[in-house]
Amino acid sequence: MRKAKIFFGSSEASKEHVSQRKSPYNGEVVSTAPICDEEDAKKALAIAQNAAVFAKKSTLAQRCAWLLDVAQKLKEYKEDLAKTITDEVGKPIAFSRIEVERCIETVTLSAETMRTMNGETINTDAMNSGKKTLSFFRREPAGVVVAITPFNFPLNLVAHKLAPALVAGNAVVLKPTPEAPLTAYKFAKLFIESEYAIPDALSVVYGDAEVGSALITSDIPRVVSFTGSVPVGNIITKHAGIKKVSLELGGNAATFIEKSADLAYAATKCALGAFVNSGQVCISLQRIYVQEDIYDEFAELMAAAAKKLKVGSPYDDETFMGPLIDDEACERAMGWIDSAIKEGAIPLLVPRLEGRTFYPCVMANVRDDMAIVCEEVFAPIVSLVKVSDFDDAVERMNDSPYGLQFSVFTNDLSITNRAIDELDAGGIVINDMPTLRFDIQPYGGVKLSGVGREGPRFAIEEMTEIKSVVIC
Ligand code: NAD
Repeated sequence: MRKAKIFFGSSEASKEHVSQRKSPYNGEVVSTAPICDEEDAKKALAIAQNAAVFAKKSTLAQRCAWLLDVAQKLKEYKEDLAKTITDEVGKPIAFSRIEVERCIETVTLSAETMRTMNGETINTDAMNSGKKTLSFFRREPAGVVVAITPFNFPLNLVAHKLAPALVAGNAVVLKPTPEAPLTAYKFAKLFIESEYAIPDALSVVYGDAEVGSALITSDIPRVVSFTGSVPVGNIITKHAGIKKVSLELGGNAATFIEKSADLAYAATKCALGAFVNSGQVCISLQRIYVQEDIYDEFAELMAAAAKKLKVGSPYDDETFMGPLIDDEACERAMGWIDSAIKEGAIPLLVPRLEGRTFYPCVMANVRDDMAIVCEEVFAPIVSLVKVSDFDDAVERMNDSPYGLQFSVFTNDLSITNRAIDELDAGGIVINDMPTLRFDIQPYGGVKLSGVGREGPRFAIEEMTEIKSVVIC
């Protein structure tokens, strides 16, 4: 089964014209998807609007059973889904399997979380102007949620939207990345074919800006949950109108290696954080600030750790890094490396691109204004920067329009405390890569990195409305 189909609610549909998805690794056609238009988006929204009424009336027990059933089916189809991710986006198969495992946890956790997300009673007599009442608030489904997702985690980032939205009692219209329609289709099918499904509560349409724009500008959705780039996030902010908009956008993650850190450990973690998924991670490690006393030793360890990573076919179980998503991404990354070298940067590993397979690139002698340092590279390039001390590192780390995640490697408790206080990001990690994400945590950024938080509990908060009640 390689054809993605539309879901207008629970009904599958095809179209005469389809788009072909070609493998980023070998160019073979791996899937097709119907080419949807504005009318399809409107049709899906109208169905969702009706379904939201029934979703709201359904019991939480049914919705939890629904998600747990999907999680069980994901276990059965794990290998097929992992292969589909690898086909469509070129992710090394070992990491595609990890993504399916994470997705199972995200779905399960969403059910478990919603089961215990109660409201609160409020003491209205705590105010001089108040009086004794029975006052409480509870969460109600927002209604229709539009979910728009990116290519780099084409399954788990869909799960981070569908699972919280549906278990909270909403109806959802999903528009997945055009780069992985079949992954999204297979996942959605598990929801739709479940015996516990709420009829028509999930629709899936395919396309890019035209369909996305029709979804976000409509008055039907009450929530737009978007994960993707800053430019598209900006468009959504400008055109969504009055509705909740949650934006998980780009980053430029950085770390500081303080002189008390375990350098060999830090280098291994930094290589993982900079090069996993070929740097195509919103919290990919891009900037490493190293205290000057230990700079030379760390640079040597870092280059050695990067050199050890296996680059090659994404279908090989041992491969750590496969291809980048498309030619444009390769050209942009290589162009930025070339211009940095012309301006004096020194590659510690020779930049190498074979087809779309980009080898790990460690750059030294960089300047803060070089694109490889200050832009989101979304490719396997990491820069080493010598700093005098923690103050110097903090100033440079925070000097970015992005603020998704930062980390610090240190064995000094006072540096740990200062890092938590002074680094300006949605997430701070001590003694691991900034690329660390546990799906249970609140996850999201400050500044251009976004608005709102994901992670089941926090996404449920974004996708529900608080209803406040007073009984006098
Ligand atoms: P993208 O912004 O190009 O596309 C994301 C989605 O937006 C796709 O489904 C696309 O079709 C859709 N889209 C495009 N134009 C639209 C429009 N006008 N209206 C509505 N939707 C539209 O992003 P990408 O290249 O798929 O993913 C990479 C980006 O995503 C990076 O910047 C990365 O940092 C970011 N990202 C962020 C997180 C996070 O949690 N913060 C996670 C993963 C990726």
